[in-house]
Amino acid sequence: MSTMKAKKSPAMPRGKEPSHQEGARPDSPAFALEQNPWHMAMRQLDRAAERLRVEPYITERLKYCKRILTVSVPTVMDDGSVKVFEGFRVQHNMDRGPTKGGIRYHPCLNLDEVKALAFWMTMKCAVVEVPYGGAKGGVVCDPKTMSEDELRRMTRRFTSEISIVIGPERDIPAPDVNTNAKIMSWMMDTYSHLAGYAVPGVVTGKPFDVGGSRGRVEATGRGVVFVTRELAKASGFDLAGSKVAVQGFGNVGSNAARIFAEHGARVVAVSDVAGGLYDPKGIDIAELVAYRDKHGVIAGYPKADKVPADSFVEVPCDILVPAALENAITSRNAGKVRAKYVVEGANGPTTTEADAILDKRGIVVVPDILANAGGVVVSYFEWVQDIQAFFWKESTINESLDDIMTKSFKDIRAIQESKKVDMRLAAFMLGLERLAGAIRYRGIFP
Ligand code: NAD
Repeated sequence: MSTMKAKKSPAMPRGKEPSHQEGARPDSPAFALEQNPWHMAMRQLDRAAERLRVEPYITERLKYCKRILTVSVPTVMDDGSVKVFEGFRVQHNMDRGPTKGGIRYHPCLNLDEVKALAFWMTMKCAVVEVPYGGAKGGVVCDPKTMSEDELRRMTRRFTSEISIVIGPERDIPAPDVNTNAKIMSWMMDTYSHLAGYAVPGVVTGKPFDVGGSRGRVEATGRGVVFVTRELAKASGFDLAGSKVAVQGFGNVGSNAARIFAEHGARVVAVSDVAGGLYDPKGIDIAELVAYRDKHGVIAGYPKADKVPADSFVEVPCDILVPAALENAITSRNAGKVRAKYVVEGANGPTTTEADAILDKRGIVVVPDILANAGGVVVSYFEWVQDIQAFFWKESTINESLDDIMTKSFKDIRAIQESKKVDMRLAAFMLGLERLAGAIRYRGIFP
């Protein structure tokens, strides 16, 4: 994600200027390191490990991924030429169960990013107590420039290349940035052809007709709203009437925005890769979703002011929900955030340096490994339903999701209060404690 420019959006209302903190120079090695997701993830691990005083071999073990597979994905393009894409599947840890994690299609995807996303999945699954380790994967490609046929051929070849390490008992992919239910159905179909029979449990986030779960599409956004509701109760503010800004209007962002509005919150700003929209009176999210479905982007929606994508985190609001990519909030713009709360819908949207600045400014951050865990929770429900070939009602899914998100929020809050730490550290301490328990019980083979 591009970093912000210093200029202020013309759409922004005048108010008290937050203090500016410029951080490292944008072209400096220090800023590059700050934005490296694997570096960020390992600093988060070190903080929790130091505080918990876990055995050094456990921390060391989590600094290596169990398995990293890099594949080439030759694909016949529509003009008859063959293009070779690079793909990855990283399995970070499987001490608590088979590995689980999304498939990302993005032109800037790289191995450090995939490793970090896999590590965060390991921690997230431990935090919400689903019996998985973490994985992640993806292909370096620009899906926006590819036809549906090209995407299908690339997805099928990628699936066959990683089929040697995935499976319902081994590693279960799911959608992530630029992948969706249709892509999951191609993955399920390809894996099933290789097996010779239908294997719905190999991926989650599938369409319902091929073994998907009710409620999975909205699950991550719904989970974001459930933890924000708990945050409101614990902090003594009303979610109804609160001003919410959501960065990213894809699966997580658009569903979170819609469900926030259903809870009475006022969604004052939203953005996607092309730019943002701002209306202090609140944006009609159902109407905006219809506009995006028709035009592909939210840019051009006539009933709100424009905000540049690179200064979106500066919009005035109570709750900022970064739900796009990593590095949305860095040392260069954390001083300009106007929200009182940041609820991380995306993975890794706040750098460690930015965390420290937000903390100093009294801005509470609900960390990704809790806030966006709703997706993996309902993926877990989908996998269980596939294995049992018995499908649940949507109300059962949503109530069970609520139970898990609420309990996880309270578990983390209890650590936060008893140990006097910020919420991210509390979440990593909780996840690491559970993971360390599994590693100790299983021991070191042989
Ligand atoms: P998506 O592909 O459906 O949507 C991504 C959105 O982000 C799009 O609207 C895109 O335009 C926007 N975007 C990209 N770059 C941007 C920028 N620079 N500024 C503003 N917007 C930008 O992806 P998604 O599934 O919604 O995932 C979003 C984030 O949530 C990722 O970090 C992902 O890892 C995380 N996440 C997703 C799930 C899930 O179930 N899909 C679960 C947990 C976490």
